[in-house]
Amino acid sequence: MAHDVVVIPGDGIGPEVVGAARRVLEATGVGLRWEVRELGLAAAERWGDPLPAATLEAIRSAGVCLKGPCATPPGGPLRSVNVALRRSLDLYACVRPCRLFPGVPSRYEQVDVVVIRENTEDLYTGVEFPWGGGATAEVIRFVLEAVGERIPEDSGISIKANSVAGSERIARFAFAYARERGRRTVTVGHKANIMKRTDGLFLEVAREVAADHPDVALEERIIDALAMELVQRPEAFDVLLLPNLYGDVVSELCAGLAGGPGLAPGVHLGDDLAVFEATHGTAPRLAGTGRANPVALILCGAMLLRHLGEEDAAGRVEAAVAAVLAEGRTVTPDLRPAGRPATTLEVAEAVAARVRRPGPG
Ligand code: ATP
Repeated sequence: MAHDVVVIPGDGIGPEVVGAARRVLEATGVGLRWEVRELGLAAAERWGDPLPAATLEAIRSAGVCLKGPCATPPGGPLRSVNVALRRSLDLYACVRPCRLFPGVPSRYEQVDVVVIRENTEDLYTGVEFPWGGGATAEVIRFVLEAVGERIPEDSGISIKANSVAGSERIARFAFAYARERGRRTVTVGHKANIMKRTDGLFLEVAREVAADHPDVALEERIIDALAMELVQRPEAFDVLLLPNLYGDVVSELCAGLAGGPGLAPGVHLGDDLAVFEATHGTAPRLAGTGRANPVALILCGAMLLRHLGEEDAAGRVEAAVAAVLAEGRTVTPDLRPAGRPATTLEVAEAVAARVRRPGPG
């Protein structure tokens, strides 16, 4: 039976890296029915709307989407089309596995950390008050009356909100993820010493959820200490559980530890929906040059196959990527090959060939 998969080529390097991933997925022989949809700049140009209802509907109906990075049209109503997509579909969990493959240049020997980021709350509420605005003055007045704190008149204000339910569902997700994959530790990152009502709540809920999962250890780190320890000894970490903003920053940090943006896959998950997307953005300066590394999107494809229950094909894709990286001959310029760098398409072809004919290293 063929699986329905929505594919969003995206903007910048998106169409190239998504095309590369499709090529590899097709080489697995798994039946996939692609439904191409637009989002971001491409959608704004074609439909006059960066977030078309038809694209949302297609993802809801198929349940699975392979998405390239999308740019948000400047000057429009949306701050970020990617954030708007996650909120519209309630994709509350972001999972970013950061694994260092042999052969990839890095300062480290071992990195195998999974960043789990809450995706819908925290400082991403989008509720903001510009400095000098009438509503801002009211908020400032309210804060003075309610808690006796004087916020300077010329302040801009952004609202950080973390709910009990939102924190609980991501904590449950993280512990279930660790348990299912035989991972032993979930480290929660927070700044509860300063933000007691938001990060403190997130931490407290994580502790309660941890009590239901005695087989998985909970560790706690203040976010700044976590950043330093990750850089000093990334091998000490297993699964990270983070509120939205820290999750954004730390997933880029971990992608850097594991070889850079061209290698880091990810998925945004809701209760019945999964949108697979790399950590990197549209990298406009690389667009059309053939220099974009497609590995992150190809690894997204492997995650997608596993999500569809195609474990064998997922394993073949990952093994093929590992073999191509270990060999080090057919890799893009970001991986600093000794000889001539390969193009995006050449990397896809090399991986696809190994997927068709799996064999020793
Ligand atoms: P956006 O605004 O969409 O986030 P950006 O250029 O600000 O775009 P990224 O696209 O994440 O942010 O790019 C950050 C850096 O990483 C750039 O220097 C880019 O060249 C590099 N980069 C990102 N993706 C890749 C890739 N797939 N292969 C190689 N280099 C990449």
